[in-house]
Amino acid sequence: MLSGSAIIIGESKLKKAIVVGSGAGGATVAKELQGKYDVTVLEAGAGFRPSDLNLSVVEKFKKTGLLFDERLIQLLFPVMRIRKTSEKMVLVNGIGTGGTTTISTANAVQKDQHLRTMGIFLDIEFEELSKEIPISTKHQKNWRDNIRHIFEICQEMALQPVVTPKMVDLGKCIRCGRCVLGCQQGAKWDSRHFLNQAIENGARLITGCRAHKVVIENKRAIGVQAILERRPQFYPADLVVLAAGGLSTPMILQNSEIECTAKLFVDPVLCVAARWDGCRQYQDIPMPFIVQKEHFILSPYFDFLSFFFNRKWKFRARDIFSLQIKLADSNYGSISKKGIQKTLINIDKERLREGVRICTEIFNRLGIKNENIFLGTTNAGHPGGMLPLTERETATLHHDVLPGNLYIADATLLPDSLGNPPSLVIMALAKRIGKICLEDA
Ligand SMILES: Cc1cc2nc3c(=O)[nH]c(=O)nc-3n(C[C@H](O)[C@H](O)[C@H](O)COP(=O)(O)OP(=O)(O)OC[C@H]3O[C@@H](n4cnc5c(N)ncnc54)[C@H](O)[C@@H]3O)c2cc1C
Ligand code: SF4
Repeated sequence: MLSGSAIIIGESKLKKAIVVGSGAGGATVAKELQGKYDVTVLEAGAGFRPSDLNLSVVEKFKKTGLLFDERLIQLLFPVMRIRKTSEKMVLVNGIGTGGTTTISTANAVQKDQHLRTMGIFLDIEFEELSKEIPISTKHQKNWRDNIRHIFEICQEMALQPVVTPKMVDLGKCIRCGRCVLGCQQGAKWDSRHFLNQAIENGARLITGCRAHKVVIENKRAIGVQAILERRPQFYPADLVVLAAGGLSTPMILQNSEIECTAKLFVDPVLCVAARWDGCRQYQDIPMPFIVQKEHFILSPYFDFLSFFFNRKWKFRARDIFSLQIKLADSNYGSISKKGIQKTLINIDKERLREGVRICTEIFNRLGIKNENIFLGTTNAGHPGGMLPLTERETATLHHDVLPGNLYIADATLLPDSLGNPPSLVIMALAKRIGKICLEDA
């Protein structure tokens, strides 16, 4: 890994590819391309390190009243980047090797119906991923009684809960519940596995290198302008793949004078929590099962952000149980130099209210009264959709507004909010894009 130094171009006769970002999309495409191309991955963040935050220390610190803004988490855990929209919604993403996959809950969900409707079938890529990533539902045998109980209630309510496939090596998992703070056991799969495979195969990784724009001449991308150690650097390339995530890729495109569409979605999450003495949900594997509704999902999820920063979460962590509503939001939103706009329209709000009603009934069936039920802070971690694929691009996965040798391989391409964990779909898309780049080459 190179960090804080200029790139050294070796003697390779291969064409040069620059991949921007090492998250779900970037690491996948880097692995696919390396060997056929000489790949350099530009990564804005540093090498990932999990958080060692101690929850009982946080509980004491909360009492001082100093934890008042979610953005403070970055001081304690720099990998977790928090931004706020103009409407004050909290947006979360990961910065560093592995991108947001390092702070994910490792759900492996194949929700690709929007792509299928458009004629994009990624079955071969999903099949390949299932051989490359350890995905299993066997964690169910380790559930504690609280999760089993909620699962049964969801069954009684005919909500058809389904055990979540997890990208976790269960032999190493100690069921600490800290997936979103980074796995200290190395049990949770994240995209650094693909990144490392690319590096073992000869790819270069430059950390601390923030791509600013793609330099385009005569309708060809000729390289990437970036900032490394506060100094501008130019990285020449025959092929550029942008995978800086649903918020950063649109900014790089706009800096390169390529227009995006104001169709940002984010999959807002609202947690409905209850006081449940001694339930210790924060130590359970997060999102162990999922209830699929038409426009949102429900899943048990201890919301660390709300616990740290929301004053309504006044009980001890051990006494809180929380259910997540993850909404497939309407794609009204944008990111630009002016900031992030994300509007939840009335129908979005109504769907969230429906989710709250169902969660409240689940808690009521557990015997918890309404006065012991409280909401979390709306936050979101699945941004995408700012240059969505349409029927025109089903074969090429490449927009006409881009030069022929500039591709996107991240959530920016998704046509609609999935309202579901998207990384498997993003990786399958990135794999296909890698193959298309190789055919083009
Ligand atoms: C708390 C949380 C839990 C989640 N849990 C799940 C889950 O269980 N399952 C699931 O499927 N999804 C989950 N997700 C979502 C999933 O992790 C992301 O949707 C996915 O990683 C997005 O992939 P991406 O390639 O678009 O972007 P990212 O994975 O975010 O990767 C973008 C990369 O680009 C880098 N970068 C950004 N800007 C620049 C720049 N200018 N120059 C160079 N590099 C740059 C970043 O550092 C990062 O490495 C979760 C998200 C959050 C926030
Ligand atoms: S529960 Fe703990 S050990 Fe298991 S994958 Fe998550 S962080 Fe790792």
